[in-house]
Amino acid sequence: MTDARIALVTGGNRGIGLEVCRQLARQGLHVLLAARNPARGEAVATAIRQEGGQVTVVPLDVQDEATVDALARGTPRVDVLINNAAVLLHEGENALTIPLAAYRESLEVNFLGPLRLCQAFVPGMRERGYGRVVNVSSGAGQLASMGGYAPAYSASKAALNALTRLVAHAGGPRVLVNSVDPGWVRTDMGGRHAPRSVDQGADTVVWLATLPEGGPTGGFYHDHHPVDW
Ligand code: NDP
Repeated sequence: MTDARIALVTGGNRGIGLEVCRQLARQGLHVLLAARNPARGEAVATAIRQEGGQVTVVPLDVQDEATVDALARGTPRVDVLINNAAVLLHEGENALTIPLAAYRESLEVNFLGPLRLCQAFVPGMRERGYGRVVNVSSGAGQLASMGGYAPAYSASKAALNALTRLVAHAGGPRVLVNSVDPGWVRTDMGGRHAPRSVDQGADTVVWLATLPEGGPTGGFYHDHHPVDW
């Protein structure tokens, strides 16, 4: 396929995910831009190609095991996995009255989706002796500061952080697995009043995705610094 490192970015068609695709392509990685609607992915991939980046759009709904399996079957190698896709549901509502369906969907997309992708691609990374996994989490998932603004989302991101620790252990020493809090970023999810640009939001994600051998693993980072779980 290519000699370049191959990076799979979920939810790569917009927001922070799209910016991560752009920045990784600029660094010479071959980007698999995963989108549940491939037409939307193609629309944005063109601009990355025009800058000289290598990008292939792949269909992926992280909730749908069949699309994860199809992607795993059709993709011989993934060196870098960015679990970025997420939903934010029932924000601003009380933890005790949010419907269970919202917790289920949040856990499906924000936790089980990344778990499915880790199960599909981390064993191969471990075998080949190289891998980077970045779980795009949130300050909302920090147990230390869980204020309850978005309870279903917070719970799912805390679970994602737990996954980071588990996969860091299971992947072995040469697969570096970390969580990142990108801060409050101007995207469809973050809204237009957020103080950070997508460029700032993507920065630590890209740093963790391209860590050198012997870099940190099993940590939670914000602006290149470790933060409390
Ligand atoms: P956006 O809402 O702008 O984009 C979300 C992306 O996830 C879209 O590409 C969307 O695809 C995709 N997605 C949602 N559900 C699925 C699914 N089932 N399968 C595949 N893709 C899916 O979010 P952001 O860019 O703001 O957020 C990116 C990450 O950063 C998320 O993990 C978020 O939790 C985290 N984050 C963001 C913050 C912010 O302030 N923006 C703050 C803290 C964390 P589609 O276009 O098809 O809907």
